[in-house]
Amino acid sequence: MTQVIRHEVPIAIRALKTANIYEINNDRHILVDTGMSPGSLDFLLGKGVDFTHIEMVILTHLHVDHIGGAQAIRDRYGIPIAIGTNDALRIKKIQEDRDGFGKFLSAELSANGTPLDLLSRIVDRHSVLDNMSLYHDIELDRELKGGEKIGRDIEIISNPGHSPGSISIHIPDRNYLFTGDHLLPGITPNISFYDEESDMLGLYIESLKETLKLHAEEIYPGHRDPFTNGNGRILEILNHHLERLNEIVSATGEWSSAFEVASRIKWSRGRTLDSMNLMEMNFAIGEAISHLRHLYSLGLVEKREKSGISTFKSSGQALKAL
Ligand SMILES: [Zn+2]
Repeated sequence: MTQVIRHEVPIAIRALKTANIYEINNDRHILVDTGMSPGSLDFLLGKGVDFTHIEMVILTHLHVDHIGGAQAIRDRYGIPIAIGTNDALRIKKIQEDRDGFGKFLSAELSANGTPLDLLSRIVDRHSVLDNMSLYHDIELDRELKGGEKIGRDIEIISNPGHSPGSISIHIPDRNYLFTGDHLLPGITPNISFYDEESDMLGLYIESLKETLKLHAEEIYPGHRDPFTNGNGRILEILNHHLERLNEIVSATGEWSSAFEVASRIKWSRGRTLDSMNLMEMNFAIGEAISHLRHLYSLGLVEKREKSGISTFKSSGQALKAL
């Protein structure tokens, strides 16, 4: 029998307001995700969480609003931290090359047509660079792979896309699924870029299709309330990406950079790029990049470099289904 306890911790991201931390108790005692700052530890103590029986902290992915309290918990209670293999690699890379992430981000935004003055402001406010000490300090004890089991009743599912090493935690006996940001209610998870060429949206679409096969009974997301009919939500998200891909096909009738595409399309709630704050702009440009890369991998846009900037052009052929 599995017991789930949810704690909704406030976070400093305006659009989200809170993040979920879960205790899973069955034959094992696991904490899933840790909010955005070391202050999550005091928050959880204030809620009466008994850390003495928790055996492991599992982080669903490497974003700051999920990893923020992990090291404080490890420091105080010696509880090991586990995360998906590809996200562990990414964090190690940030730790080994302290200037590398900022350089990579600047180069990639620049190569996708972001004007230099805007680019430097976006990089300054990026959540990784803004919270670098959390990434430098965190000590990862275990890397988790898809298919791995923890105890009798906890199974790790690999679902790359929202990040390279995103994982969900599946409880087969109840068919519960803790999805991190792989699946969220009411918000489409951000799909961006983590290197110069990977098709993150393609990975995400495949991960969503894999998740459909589980027919999960109850979804415990990284933000907002748990929900049922996860498959209905997956179909909505797939449809959202199909519509956005086709909008981008229409927006690339002439050779265009990802930044120009991001400036041209209507974002959620009818917003435009210039009405966004810097973090939202970073998300929007990242979304344009991931959608263009996916269209490119499908052969629906051509790509060419022009003065160091990647530009894309479609033949106008729409995508019928994902
Ligand atoms: Zn995330």
